[in-house]
Amino acid sequence: MAEYQTHDFDVLVVGAGGAGLRAAIEASAAGVKVGVVSKSLLGKAHTVMAEGGMAAAMGNVDDRDNWRVHFADTMRGGQYLNNWRMAELHAKEAPARVRELEAWGAVFDRTRDGRILQRNFGGHRYPRLAHVGDRTGLEMIRTLQDHGIHKGIQFHMETTILTLLKDGERCVGAFAYDRERGRFKLLHAKAVVLATGGIGRAFLITSNSWEYTGDGHSLAYHAGAALLDMEFVQFHPTGMVWPPSVRGILVTEGVRGEGGVLRNKLGKRFMFEDIPANYRSSTADNEDEGWRYTQGDKSCRRPPELLTRDHVARCIRREVKEGRGSPHGGVFLDIAWIKARLPNSEEHIKKKLPSMYHQFKQLADIDITKEPMEIGPTTHYVMGGVKVDAESQMSTVPGLFAAGETGAGLHGANRLGGNSLSDLLVFGKRAGEYAAKFAKEHGAGQINQSQVEETARWALAPFDRGPAGENPYAVQHELQEMMQDLVGIVRREEEMERALDRIQELKARANRAGIGGNREYNNGWHTALDLHNLLTVSEIVARAALTRKESRGAHFRDDYPEKSDHWGGVNLWVVRGPDGAAQVREVPVKPMPDELKQVIEENK
Ligand SMILES: Cc1cc2nc3c(=O)[nH]c(=O)nc-3n(C[C@H](O)[C@H](O)[C@H](O)COP(=O)(O)OP(=O)(O)OC[C@H]3O[C@@H](n4cnc5c(N)ncnc54)[C@H](O)[C@@H]3O)c2cc1C
Repeated sequence: MAEYQTHDFDVLVVGAGGAGLRAAIEASAAGVKVGVVSKSLLGKAHTVMAEGGMAAAMGNVDDRDNWRVHFADTMRGGQYLNNWRMAELHAKEAPARVRELEAWGAVFDRTRDGRILQRNFGGHRYPRLAHVGDRTGLEMIRTLQDHGIHKGIQFHMETTILTLLKDGERCVGAFAYDRERGRFKLLHAKAVVLATGGIGRAFLITSNSWEYTGDGHSLAYHAGAALLDMEFVQFHPTGMVWPPSVRGILVTEGVRGEGGVLRNKLGKRFMFEDIPANYRSSTADNEDEGWRYTQGDKSCRRPPELLTRDHVARCIRREVKEGRGSPHGGVFLDIAWIKARLPNSEEHIKKKLPSMYHQFKQLADIDITKEPMEIGPTTHYVMGGVKVDAESQMSTVPGLFAAGETGAGLHGANRLGGNSLSDLLVFGKRAGEYAAKFAKEHGAGQINQSQVEETARWALAPFDRGPAGENPYAVQHELQEMMQDLVGIVRREEEMERALDRIQELKARANRAGIGGNREYNNGWHTALDLHNLLTVSEIVARAALTRKESRGAHFRDDYPEKSDHWGGVNLWVVRGPDGAAQVREVPVKPMPDELKQVIEENK
């Protein structure tokens, strides 16, 4: 019999990032008993790394902005595969969520007349990102923690959920281990909210932290929930490329929002050469107009560097592939050039982009106020995730909710920058509210003891196999290299077929993973357990990407380089079949009501 502590909650929130904390605050405000579990220490969730800001149509900098424009921008960015109801709720509710954060103590940058300042970002028609320099995520986490800490929420830090517990069809809690001592915990709950973030660690070059092993996606899938549109993985155009130890670390889009430009090794601003037809009318066609847009001139259109991320990333890849890249395999991102336009450019850059200044100075010995940066695409975000109901965020499993990067629907085929932080607030709140409601309406479910015993046995098996077993780090590294090469930014059928074969081999090796030492803070053990999630999400991404035979948004197929009408009307669900194998289902996109179609027409 496995030994474990038991804790009882009404609502268990898995994840202490923006989505998890916002959900926990809301559930707690509804008067139920809430527990929050996180793999890392409180304050270290990935949200803390968010830089550029949160998108909300408050119209503080440009009063032409409103929810209708934000909705249309989000749908166009997502290439109309978005859940339109989520996009509508998000555009309408984000301003209130940002103001609420301000009321709870977030100190945003200000306009001259004292309102929350908003900056330009890719794909947003007007300056829309509320921000705190380039440290917006830090302020968000600090504020939510300060507010949440007084709500009587029970926190279990450095605790990893291993499996979700089921009573029949319903989710009734989770089984976990604490990373410090290696002891098991049974977390019994009437409703569970998954807010575990993304899957970036399935790839070699990524801006994502060690926590992003796709746990929530994998936990939900194995509990029977449908995953939606997992082929859409966002490769952010600007990650560091040099030195090798920092490859993939994000360079915020805020650099381009403040006037930074992309050049190839010939010094050419190559983005002017490839402006997609549906963005031509809203994109500047000369350098001067682009610059004036970044400085707030309302008569100007945005520079092509602020086109959507998928497009910019592919243009960079093209420059590199065709021999016009920088010395270390990227291109140049230059903000220093603004000295030709602004007398106090050095102070301006340091004030607007303090983290970027320090990041390049300390990690690459580059002074961005004087020299260009070398950058290239990096795996950044997953648009796909747990299929949820737009209003409540409940998954296809009763009692199981998902929010933030783990949930899916809002972003369609491509997320606009800044729409994640507002997503966390809008849908984190909704998940908390509806999970509390579910908990009030349902009694505590039964724990299936054999599920608990089986999970405990599985979790301890790497110790039984010992150091003679497969090295978990080697399996993880080979998986990441393989996903980067075969299911990365440009995809082909035969490569993805090969990826699926390799995943089967790696799964077999992961099942033989062994480690030495004991259960106390044993990183080898943690890595061995994470492999299960990484392999699950990698297979699902590859299967969905193989099925979608077109190029759309973040999903680019070399063998199907165009968009197709058929696939433009289809979402992909992946569910675990009765034989345990992943099944991919084509589900028609729900038709949009006429009034929302009208909003899109108005904003073309
Ligand atoms: C460098 C960088 C900059 C970014 N900048 C912006 C930006 O400016 N604007 C924007 O909108 N978006 C930005 N993004 C994206 C955005 O930050 C993320 O999408 C968002 O923060 C995700 O929040 P979350 O609450 O869903 O998850 P997270 O903040 O990642 O939190 C996940 C939580 O789940 C926990 N967890 C994970 N697995 C388990 C498990 N098995 N058991 C228990 N706990 C678990 C983790 O410990 C953590 O507490 C940026 C991303 C990066 C990488």
